[in-house]
Amino acid sequence: MSGFKYSNLVHADSIGTDIFSLIEQLFPICRSITGDGVRATLKHIREHIPLDVHEVPTGTQIYDWTIPREWNINDAYIKNQKGEKVVDFHNSNLHVVGYSIPVQKKMSLDELKEHVFSIPENPEWIPYRTSYYNESWGFCISHRQLMSMEDGIYDVLIDSSLEDGTLTYGEYVLPGEIEDEILLSAHICHPSLANDNLSGIALLTHLAKHLQGLKHKYSYRFIFAPGTIGSLTWLARNEQHALSRVKHGLVVSCVGDAGGPTYKRSRRGSAEIDLAIEHVLKHACEQSILDDFSPYGYDERQYCSPGFNLPVGLFERSKYGEFPQYHTSADNLEFISVEHLSESYGIISRLIDVLENNDTYVNKNPKGEPQLGKRGLYNAIGGDTQAAQKIMAMLWTLNLSDGEHSLLDISKRADIPFELIFSAAQLLRENGLLKKANNKISSCSAP
Ligand code: ZN
Repeated sequence: MSGFKYSNLVHADSIGTDIFSLIEQLFPICRSITGDGVRATLKHIREHIPLDVHEVPTGTQIYDWTIPREWNINDAYIKNQKGEKVVDFHNSNLHVVGYSIPVQKKMSLDELKEHVFSIPENPEWIPYRTSYYNESWGFCISHRQLMSMEDGIYDVLIDSSLEDGTLTYGEYVLPGEIEDEILLSAHICHPSLANDNLSGIALLTHLAKHLQGLKHKYSYRFIFAPGTIGSLTWLARNEQHALSRVKHGLVVSCVGDAGGPTYKRSRRGSAEIDLAIEHVLKHACEQSILDDFSPYGYDERQYCSPGFNLPVGLFERSKYGEFPQYHTSADNLEFISVEHLSESYGIISRLIDVLENNDTYVNKNPKGEPQLGKRGLYNAIGGDTQAAQKIMAMLWTLNLSDGEHSLLDISKRADIPFELIFSAAQLLRENGLLKKANNKISSCSAP
């Protein structure tokens, strides 16, 4: 079917596997909001898409924030009195609190415990903790291990550096027929955690890779940036030029687990992307969760801050902060699956199809119903199981194509999947009954 092609991306059987294998490659890397882990991650993404990598110096003022010093880490451990490494950074990068300052000293267990974090409710899991904006250090270990540590003197080392450097983010713009953009954004600042945030990074990388080969109306901008400070940096550097082009936007995270799917609306609440994804989820999933905007979460907080108010929503499966594995070592490769990554990819592809094809038409024969039979339009529908619905799709499209209702508006009003309304519009257009509206008015896109 011409024009409606992005959903076909889903039919690539290998898509879930491709996304999963990129996650596997990225999983061992120790990422933070700055440093070599972010660079190594972007380098992997560049094997798939020609990403631009931006480096912004420490100390740069970004609205109310300042780019922090760059953090890197080589090694960290806790040794017991026998000289045995009881905690080793090289076994799990979650063991060190992100942005820990360098430490090398001997201390008692009581003194050490003030710097150790665990999860008593899930005693086998290692928590993920950071301390970006105040200088401190710490270790994260399983509660079982903490309970088993004996009194004595421990030898503690964190071989990290906090120095003037840069904040790194990646950006890829795929030009379309028009300058209006769809912005897709994932944060890249978490170490070995699979669902949050590697699933989002890997899904968007493969989406960008597939879109490269297709003709599309919109331009696409993919942003891979550290949470909060990274998206703010992008916003500050693009305020003059790119922001007005962003017509739709989506933050993508936690897309590999079995929960949800969940969509959190943009601050506008009824932007075209809000209505489009609501429609897609209704017709593509047995159950899904729709939440209104709140000023907490991922980078939609920044894109939707009042000074920008961009139409950017958040797509995830389980909601951030609400699944027990969130920010723990249990958010690992076993927690996500090829099947759920593939399904998430399918939902976003369908969303793109709706946005790309959500045009507005005018019925050229608006006085009375045009005679469909004499134009062979009933025969064109065929006798399949969807025949009745396809006829209704034609009648609704003719009736509501008055230059004021987009195809998505019609789909919602008729409660018919967008794909069928789109096909009906194509058929009616080929038969001279519809024309594109001159000024593309859509009640959906009204601010
Ligand atoms: Zn997180």
